[in-house]
Amino acid sequence: MEIKAYLDNASTTKVATEVEKAIKDAPWANPGTKHWPGKAAKKAMYDARQLVASRLGADSDEIVFTSGGTESDNLAILGAARANKGNHVITAKTEHKAVLGACKQLEQEGDKVTYLSVDRNGFIDIDELESAITNDTVLVSIMHVNNETGTIQPVEEIAKICKAKGVLFHTDAVQGFTKLDLDLSGIDLMSMSSHKIHGPKGVGALYVKKGTKLAAIMYGGKHELGLRPGTENVPGIVGFATAVELAKPGDAVAIKKLRCGFAERLLEIPDSFLNGPEERVCHILNIGFKGIDAQELMQHLDARGICVSAGAACAEQSIEPSHVLKAIGLSDEDAKSSIRFSLSRYTTKEELGITVAACKEIVEKLRSLQ
Ligand SMILES: *Cc1c(COP(=O)(O)O)cnc(C)c1O
Repeated sequence: MEIKAYLDNASTTKVATEVEKAIKDAPWANPGTKHWPGKAAKKAMYDARQLVASRLGADSDEIVFTSGGTESDNLAILGAARANKGNHVITAKTEHKAVLGACKQLEQEGDKVTYLSVDRNGFIDIDELESAITNDTVLVSIMHVNNETGTIQPVEEIAKICKAKGVLFHTDAVQGFTKLDLDLSGIDLMSMSSHKIHGPKGVGALYVKKGTKLAAIMYGGKHELGLRPGTENVPGIVGFATAVELAKPGDAVAIKKLRCGFAERLLEIPDSFLNGPEERVCHILNIGFKGIDAQELMQHLDARGICVSAGAACAEQSIEPSHVLKAIGLSDEDAKSSIRFSLSRYTTKEELGITVAACKEIVEKLRSLQ
C-alpha cells in the first residue's frame, strides 16, 4: 500500500537520502583498532562528534554517543542520581516514558521523585519547581519540547534556577533538537535522538557538560569517556551527524507555516479542539474531535494511506488515555478523542490537503453513525 500522507514524524522520520548514502559509505572497521581501517573509522567518528558538538555550541568531549533518546535519558537520570550526593529527583508528569521509567527505577532503588503537575497548556509552574528543590535534590529533569502537545518548556529559566540552587539539570531535547536553539550554559545533561531528525534509528547522544559527575549504566570497555561501553555504531553515528548537518534552522519556519494553515482547516471541523498552547514547536499538532474515538479515526485514515498517531507511539498498544493529555487536564473521553499530527521538512501541502479532506469526511461519517 502506498503512503499518501505521512504525518507521524514525532514517532519517527524517514531517513534522508543523503543520510542513507553517508551510512553506506561509512567505514566499517572497529574505531578502537590501530590499523588503518580502524583509524579511518576513528576519524569518521571524530568528525561526527565535532559536527554534533558544534551544532550545540559544545565541545566534542561533551558528546556521548548512545543508542538513542531512551538510553540518553536513562544514562542522564540514573547516572547522575547514582554518582552524586542526594536522593531526590524532580521531573514532570508529562515527560516521555523514557524519563518516567528511569525515575520509577530510582524509586525502586529508594530515591524520592517529585512529579510536577502542569497547567492546561502543559507548562510546569516555575515557583512550584523552585520550592520543590530541597537539600536532598540531586537532579531536575524537564523536557524541552513535549512530544504530544509541542509545549516548549522554559528550560533556560529552569536551568538558571537549578544552577543557583546547585542541583543538576537534565533536559530531554529529542523533539526540539535542530528545530529550536537552546542556550546550553545552565544545562548539565541533554538527550538527543537521530531518528527524529531523518537519521537512522538506534543512535543518539547525551550532552554531558564538562565536570558533570555521571555513573555508567552499562559495564564493559572504556568507550565514550567510560560512560558507554561497546564498539561504537560508526555508520549510525556518521548518519546521525549527516542528519544534523542537513537540518537547517530555516526548516522550522517553513514547517510552522504549513502547520498553521493545516491547523486552521482542521479546526473548521465542528466540535474540534486544540490540545497544547498556540505557541509551540513547529511540527506538532494535537487535535481532538468531540465524541470520536481517535483509534477508530486513525484506523480509517490508515486505510487511506494517511499515517498519524493517537497518543505517543510507545503508548499505542495501551487503551489507557495518554498520560500527557490527562496531565493537562483533559477528561478521559477528550483524551481518547485526540489525534497527533506531526510534520517534517518533507511534508507537502498536498499531503495536508488529503488529510484535512479525509478527516472531515470520516469524522462526519462516524458521527452520523452514533
Ligand atoms: C522519541 C522520543 C524519545 C525516545 O527516543 P528513542 O531514540 O526512540 O529511544 C525520548 N524522548 C522524546 C521526547 C521522544 O520524542
